[in-house]
Amino acid sequence: MRLTDGVIVVGSGASATAAAFPLVRAGIPVLMLDVGNVDDHYAAVIPEKSFTELRGSDPGQHRYFLGDDFEGVPFGQVRVGAQLTPPRRFIQRDAERLTPMNTSTFAGVESLAKGGLGAGWGAVAVQFDDHDLRDFPIRLRDLAPYYESVAARIGVSGAADDLHERYGNCSCLQPPLELDSLGASILDRYEKRRAAMNQMGVYLGRARLAALSRDLGVRRAQSYHDMDFYSDREQSVFRPAFAVDELRQFPHFVYAKPYLVERFCETDGGQGIEVAALHTESGRRETFKARRLVIAAGTLGTARIVLRSLERYDTPVPIVSNPYTYVPCIHLPMLGKAVKDRRHSLTQFGVILEPGPRSARRVHAQAYSYRSLLLFKIVKEAPLPVAEGFHVMRELMNSFVILGIHHEDRPAVTKRCVLRKAKDGGPDRLEVSYKNPQDVEREQASAEKVLLKAFRKLGCWPLKRIHPGNGASIHYGGTVPMTSEDRELTTTPECQLRGTSTVFLADGSVLPYLPAKALTLTLMANAERVGVRVSRELAWKEGQRS
Ligand SMILES: Cc1cc2nc3c(=O)[nH]c(=O)nc-3n(C[C@H](O)[C@H](O)[C@H](O)COP(=O)(O)OP(=O)(O)OC[C@H]3O[C@@H](n4cnc5c(N)ncnc54)[C@H](O)[C@@H]3O)c2cc1C
Repeated sequence: MRLTDGVIVVGSGASATAAAFPLVRAGIPVLMLDVGNVDDHYAAVIPEKSFTELRGSDPGQHRYFLGDDFEGVPFGQVRVGAQLTPPRRFIQRDAERLTPMNTSTFAGVESLAKGGLGAGWGAVAVQFDDHDLRDFPIRLRDLAPYYESVAARIGVSGAADDLHERYGNCSCLQPPLELDSLGASILDRYEKRRAAMNQMGVYLGRARLAALSRDLGVRRAQSYHDMDFYSDREQSVFRPAFAVDELRQFPHFVYAKPYLVERFCETDGGQGIEVAALHTESGRRETFKARRLVIAAGTLGTARIVLRSLERYDTPVPIVSNPYTYVPCIHLPMLGKAVKDRRHSLTQFGVILEPGPRSARRVHAQAYSYRSLLLFKIVKEAPLPVAEGFHVMRELMNSFVILGIHHEDRPAVTKRCVLRKAKDGGPDRLEVSYKNPQDVEREQASAEKVLLKAFRKLGCWPLKRIHPGNGASIHYGGTVPMTSEDRELTTTPECQLRGTSTVFLADGSVLPYLPAKALTLTLMANAERVGVRVSRELAWKEGQRS
């Protein structure tokens, strides 16, 4: 048994690291338990050059663009996580084996990596406002100080434009990243048609990104090499693994891997906690003891640990995931025009459709140009023979904009997870079933029509709407939600697991529903709130003891 007089934090993702910072800053010993897979293969083989230079001159480029085992060439449909290029594939390593899922209706992606899903995230970092949080048991004022401190720590860039209020203010905002030619052309048209767009409830603005336009500590400003889906060399885009390394500078912080946490058990009449974990290399089971436990193993991973620990196998809990549609469009004014080579790979601008007569709920979309994910992936989607497809897509590429549309998601009886106990001594399986009611799907389709109508006014012609499947947004929440009323398998608004004295949840599991906006900045802000809450409680207890 390993003892710590402080706190065990499970996971090393965006949420876990955000919860750990206030604890270690308060001088509390923290033991972070994580499976912690890393890429030990590709990082070293990608030269520090731009996409164009590499495509033009690197004889070894096939290794990272296609993969040593051609794992970057999708032989089925490319639908979920198309950005997970060969150097990012480690994110999903071992998940199927160690944390299996049974589902035919949910394309869930889980990670056992150092840094979790954030090792490949698109870095859209926006705040929820009181409209988004209207049915949460907390308000913006509860999160505001933590949005501010997380943004200062990870570095967020963006502009004071039409989305500024909707994306939330923060005093440390860095200037926005440069637009590429396509993004600049579309935003320029928006400027000229702003009144008509706003009349439709549509607002556009520069991307709000956890990506640096100015150096921050050891991390460098964006190089505009267009290699963000492959390499983290200059560390412009925030990855939670950088935060783990920062935490390791504190002498009372320990990062222990590869441990798959299985269950917890309160001890000493609710004064302490024991955590059982599998050492995934040796197969040994070990126990760790601490005063508090903060679980941030990802929305699904946390549900597994809670349900197993409370012996609630076969008990359905909710799940929410932003419904996602992507729409390739041709921006006609750019047809046949040359574009700047200098660009980043992340989203160029954001779009919000406000609720009103045309849409019942707020919708959030992101617009991407297409280049470094390579032509062959979209040629597969085109209704043309491969050779003709390449020819046509090459001509169209500079005017190609992909709109990724996210909708709000609320719990429903048709969206459930159930943990099933393994009968053969293998890992338990999480069964996920997900279906949105038809009226909700109809509402989403009509909101998409409004957005696409507005986009036509900006010269963007939609080619087709693609529904990559439930769960494809890779935004998950709601399995053990925070609620005001005292119900089992929920947390308090402070994220303390009901029925326990020492266990706190600090990831998407606690969000009662998902607003349309990207969730991760909120996960980090809320996790820091949990870390502060736990550190104050321990300091208070310390004061009582002395
Ligand atoms: C391609 C892609 C693009 C995305 N783009 C965006 C975006 O632009 N904006 C946005 O807001 N969100 C985006 N997301 C979603 C975002 O990445 C996640 O919301 C966020 O990373 C979740 O962080 P987390 O720490 O809560 O959980 P996770 O990232 O899932 O981390 C879970 C951690 O727990 C560990 N773990 C799991 N189970 C156990 C266990 N039993 N024992 C020990 N350790 C365990 C894992 O190793 C991992 O470290 C994207 C995701 C992907 C994949």
